[in-house]
Amino acid sequence: MREDAQDIQKVVEELRALVERQREEIARLERMLEVSREINSNLDLRELLIDIQRIATVLTVTEASSIMLLDKKTGELYFETATGEASDELTRITVPIEGSIAGEVIKTGQPVIVADVRKDPRHYEQVDDITKFSTKSILAVPLVVKDKIIGVLEVLNKLEEGGFTEEDVEVLTTMADHAAVAIENARLFQQSDLISEVVHELRAPVTSIVGYAQMLKMPDIPGETKQQFAEVIRREAARLGNMINDFLDWARLESGRVHLTREPVDLRAVAEEAILIMRPQADQRCITMELHAPDGVPEIIGDAKRLKQVLLNLLSNAVKYNRDGGRVDVEISVQPEALQLAVRDSGQGIPAEDLPNIFQRFYRVAGTEDQVKGTGLGLCVAKQIVEKHGGEITVSSELGVGTTFYVTLPSGDGHL
Ligand code: ADP
Repeated sequence: MREDAQDIQKVVEELRALVERQREEIARLERMLEVSREINSNLDLRELLIDIQRIATVLTVTEASSIMLLDKKTGELYFETATGEASDELTRITVPIEGSIAGEVIKTGQPVIVADVRKDPRHYEQVDDITKFSTKSILAVPLVVKDKIIGVLEVLNKLEEGGFTEEDVEVLTTMADHAAVAIENARLFQQSDLISEVVHELRAPVTSIVGYAQMLKMPDIPGETKQQFAEVIRREAARLGNMINDFLDWARLESGRVHLTREPVDLRAVAEEAILIMRPQADQRCITMELHAPDGVPEIIGDAKRLKQVLLNLLSNAVKYNRDGGRVDVEISVQPEALQLAVRDSGQGIPAEDLPNIFQRFYRVAGTEDQVKGTGLGLCVAKQIVEKHGGEITVSSELGVGTTFYVTLPSGDGHL
């Protein structure tokens, strides 16, 4: 009798444990469902990746998470983003596929657990050096879409005793499946969004060229009018050419595949060259252009060609958005550990509410389009180049008085 009672007690306990497990399982499934809903609704790639990492760390009770994606063209594996301190630094760091943990996940398509990275030669320490994050343990799973591995999702440093469990592997794998599809969707969306933006911008000059060419063919047009039409076609075609160059520059920089050359650069000489190029345009509108620089400006390490492009973009804006008979002053000043370049104009100025946006791609101050042609890419390109040099670009402007762009470039060594 006593034995029976004990048996019943045991069965009840087992049943209770089973119910408890079922309840946990249901809660887990509900969480996964919630996660998949949350991820699938985000089409902004950067935000999505941040969401995925946040959720991955919560679900696996870990300290941080990172996502590496395979570059379709180069086949390189690169860090898209990482949570944790200094994670901005991680953008576009490539990880070798041979001999790294993530590389192994890519090659085998299987999850990898590393309980102690110090004992594992496959850990790619360079990343920790840059992010100042101290990786102790890793769980890495593949991101798979339609049987194709597109990258790796990693969670770092299990916060609970006992390290990563089979359940963590299962949870992260299920989550990675949702995440991979969402990443592909966001990428496609981003691409189509971008292409439609670019096409939209190119359409205006093409429409005008086709229209005027059509009109040129009409009979009985006076010679003088024909000349005017031909001039519009030439101008619009030149503009189209500029736009295409701007787009290409920008697309190359945006893709992250541009490598700056590292050479000693005489910023004063670069400024002189850029001014020389812009001089005819300034002269046409009687705009005075002057360079002010102290003697012995120290050289900086950088990419002279691209820095010249920054100056050309700023100078061409300073002329374009100036008044006839106005001024453009370029000033170089030497600061501790940095050189500052100021491009000051006496133009119409930029409204305060537009200032935070002018470095964004395709952004143009309302009404600009009617007066001055442009692509809204010049400042975006300039900013990318300056930032790739470890520098900073800022602007201050007063309506009706003028605008000054400041470019600060580090002059100490080891910043590129
Ligand atoms: P774009 O000149 O091709 O339009 P940019 O990226 O160079 O593109 O500039 C973005 C916008 O910022 C311009 O359309 C213009 O409205 C404004 N802007 C840039 N530079 C100046 C300036 N020096 N003075 C006034 N407005 C400017």
